[in-house]
Amino acid sequence: MAHSGSQDLAQVAKERGIRYFMISYTDLFGGQRAKLVPAQAIGDMQKDGAGFAGFATYLDMTPAHPDLFGMPDPAALIQLPWKKEVAWVAADCVMEDKHVAQAPRVVLKNVLRKATDQGLFVKTGVECEYFLICPDGSAISDEKDNAAKPCYDQQALMRRYDVISEICDYMLELGWGPYQNDHEDANGQFEMNWNFDDALITADRHSFFKFMVKSVAEKHGLRATFMPKPFPGLTGNGCHAHISVWDRSGTTNAFLDNSDEMGLSQQGYHFLGGIMRHAEALAALTNPTVNSYKRINAPRTLSGATWSPNTVTWTGNNRTHMVRVPGKGRFELRLPDGAANPYLLQAAIIAAGLSGIAHKASPGRRYDIDMYQLGHTVTDAPKLPLNLLDALRNFDRDGELKATLGEEFAAAYLKLKHAEWNQYASHFTQWERDNTLDV
Ligand code: ADP
Ligand code: MG
Ligand code: MG
Ligand code: MG
Ligand code: MG
Repeated sequence: MAHSGSQDLAQVAKERGIRYFMISYTDLFGGQRAKLVPAQAIGDMQKDGAGFAGFATYLDMTPAHPDLFGMPDPAALIQLPWKKEVAWVAADCVMEDKHVAQAPRVVLKNVLRKATDQGLFVKTGVECEYFLICPDGSAISDEKDNAAKPCYDQQALMRRYDVISEICDYMLELGWGPYQNDHEDANGQFEMNWNFDDALITADRHSFFKFMVKSVAEKHGLRATFMPKPFPGLTGNGCHAHISVWDRSGTTNAFLDNSDEMGLSQQGYHFLGGIMRHAEALAALTNPTVNSYKRINAPRTLSGATWSPNTVTWTGNNRTHMVRVPGKGRFELRLPDGAANPYLLQAAIIAAGLSGIAHKASPGRRYDIDMYQLGHTVTDAPKLPLNLLDALRNFDRDGELKATLGEEFAAAYLKLKHAEWNQYASHFTQWERDNTLDV
């Protein structure tokens, strides 16, 4: 239903009672940019695309660039369950008849092509944690939600039943296969899980999920945030990614080996080896904001644990490492956070995995210790970057990752993200006054 091939959108509008299409693309900073196009005009738009000024969004363009066109992908159409007369449709950016190499959905499609050329069909699931906060952003919206260990808090979950059930009902209606909803480890924090699927489908759903959660929260007079660490001392918003690789038909999981202790195949270990080898650079994409680095490498939270990693280590079913193998035939990358761009997140993981497969990389030694207690005893594993600048520099040094993701993309991303870092660094803080006034 959501992914229905190369359909004629004007016809789809008639059949489904769609009055407006939101032709939507995602920029390098994860912003979703859209034009609302009446069904009467969708015929031409489907052929020619919706016009945008690229410079007005984060794509590293100048005001002198020609028009950017968002070409709707009819396979990625999602009718808004809360406003059925509107259909969101993911678009690919085109300029002068060429795909825009740095546009995130294009970046992902290009990496996916490299994977499928090798017969690798990546399937992923994401766990998009978020907080429900006051509209002004200053505090958690439910003042009664203040337990010291709030994870799975039944009472607090049910005080938000109206919001959670509405979103879950929509996912049911869209056929995403949602299967559980819970109160997460921070006060005011929730997680809703739906089934994994092809990486591009998951990326589109991830984008739409953020839009949907924010929209439904607003409808209920609240605000939803996916900010990596919105409140000091509370667990942050992760966006764990689960990964497996399948054959073309999607029936055989190439990561599954029942004879292996962890249930992982050689190819699975090599892919994981690529993740381990590129992790310090990967962070520039999985943890793309200044605030991201307050979630990883963080001190213990009020609840007792941050649930986020500090070191490039992997393990079995143990949540204190960067990678967890929770069950056979897949692994979980716990590094990404709520600010990760849905398309770049998938692209970065797959690019690192392809490198691992190409080099027959080993993931290195497995650690089964509690990293929060015993992390200091691990001396042979790299620390994750401590800030965005370190991560960007790591990414810039990782020629292979940049080449697989595309040089134009890497250059554009690094340029805009360095500018963001410089803007942050030039911002005056109370901390420096407190610590420097009397030098
Ligand atoms: P946890 O909180 O234990 O990490 P969740 O149930 O919250 O796990 O999320 C697990 C995610 O992993 C879901 O999106 C699920 O569909 C996905 N998943 C399960 N099996 C696979 C697999 N073989 N490949 C990719 N993703 C998977
Ligand atoms: Mg205009
Ligand atoms: Mg989960
Ligand atoms: Mg979680
Ligand atoms: Mg998880």
